[in-house]
Amino acid sequence: MHRLIILGPPGAGKGTQSERLARDLDLAHVATGDILRRAAQDGTDLGRRAAEIMRAGLLVPDDVMIGLIRRELAAPAAAKGFVLDGFPRTLEQAKALDALLAETGWKLDAVLYLEVPEGELVKRAAGRRVCKKCGANYNLLASPPTRAGICDACGGELYLRDDDREDTVRRRLEVYRRLTEPVVDHYRSCGLLRRVDGLAPPDAVYRSLLGQVTGAAKA
Ligand code: AMP
Repeated sequence: MHRLIILGPPGAGKGTQSERLARDLDLAHVATGDILRRAAQDGTDLGRRAAEIMRAGLLVPDDVMIGLIRRELAAPAAAKGFVLDGFPRTLEQAKALDALLAETGWKLDAVLYLEVPEGELVKRAAGRRVCKKCGANYNLLASPPTRAGICDACGGELYLRDDDREDTVRRRLEVYRRLTEPVVDHYRSCGLLRRVDGLAPPDAVYRSLLGQVTGAAKA
């Protein structure tokens, strides 16, 4: 049983790595970006509001995100442990999560921090493709699909996220520096932060993450 957060700038590999961690450790993968994109596709109220904000590379308001995470953590799937991917993204969200965990008596095992230099992030975002149907991630440079434009997992169509266009990526990086870096400092000062070099090949990054998680569990 593990309760984890994965943090890092947009394009650091949080989605791919946390999906794999969740599968191997049998955890709920709670990816707020995926939840919002699904809501946008389904045309729900939340989805319609979030779509515009996402396209602009900005953040959905804290109260909306905190309500969403409260529901996700109350769901039966979260009882077996979880990895939060994309939340918290502001200090306000981190403090709300601290309060929520205090209510339930749950403790975080580790906050995994994927570090990648900014130039690399812009390059990666441009090559990223996502499956319309199942949300699987590919990268045209590092991990291309077997057939161009088609998802290996489900045969769905791959697309470039609106917010992966270069000007939007730069905006997201600026938002990250201003609003999310304080979250990194918050967990560093709690002693929960585990830094991993996100520039290494994906399998090596995964091994480091796994090492940090099992190390944290033993400690
Ligand atoms: P991601 O897939 O994690 O890169 O998230 C895509 C977009 O969803 C972000 O750029 C935000 O607009 C929105 N989003 C996801 N998670 C959050 C969050 N915790 N707080 C605010 N906005 C979020």
